[in-house]
Amino acid sequence: MKEIVLSHDEIVQICTRLAKELEERFKNSNTIPVFVGVLKGACPFFMELIKHYSLPMKTDFIQVSSYDGTSSTGVIHLKQDISIDIRNKDVVLIEDIIDTGLTLSYLKQYIEIKYNPKSVTVVTLIDKKPLRRVDFKCDHVGVTLNENKFLVGFGFDYKEVLRNVDYVYVPSKKEIAELDKLISKDSKM
Ligand code: 5GP
Repeated sequence: MKEIVLSHDEIVQICTRLAKELEERFKNSNTIPVFVGVLKGACPFFMELIKHYSLPMKTDFIQVSSYDGTSSTGVIHLKQDISIDIRNKDVVLIEDIIDTGLTLSYLKQYIEIKYNPKSVTVVTLIDKKPLRRVDFKCDHVGVTLNENKFLVGFGFDYKEVLRNVDYVYVPSKKEIAELDKLISKDSKM
């Protein structure tokens, strides 16, 4: 039996709620908010969330990397920047998970300093508390996790695999060992 942390139905319910919270936040705004997804992990969450948001919005993406296998390296590299003009705009930064907090605090600061937007609102599907290294508060949180579990599915990968599963779960040691074999074989092809 898989240890499921969020079923697909739960994810849809969370996205519906978060979209309504964001509508409340921006319903009286005189500018169009730009939703910026953090590649690659936040993609499924981003797509599900915007389906339930009914006001005008724009989309963009930014890419960083900090994870190596199953743990954060703590060093963040910007791999791809946003492409549309967000000066004086409301930015909604959408991430799959906050763990140490380093990625989101880096990204928020980077966007604020480089682009001087009107505001930056941070949304995360999962707030994983135990390994927090910087005091960073997300404005909208899907669920809080108080245990340090390594998650896969719905955007969360193990060595780039398993992002396409439509729910979030904790992989077993056996599954990881089997994947390691497959990945190693694949890399030699
Ligand atoms: P932070 O910088 O807050 O430590 O980590 C944020 C990034 O770490 C996320 O975007 C995600 O890529 C990765 N991450 C954190 N926890 C997990 C996890 O449980 N599973 C996977 N696959 N990635 C995670």
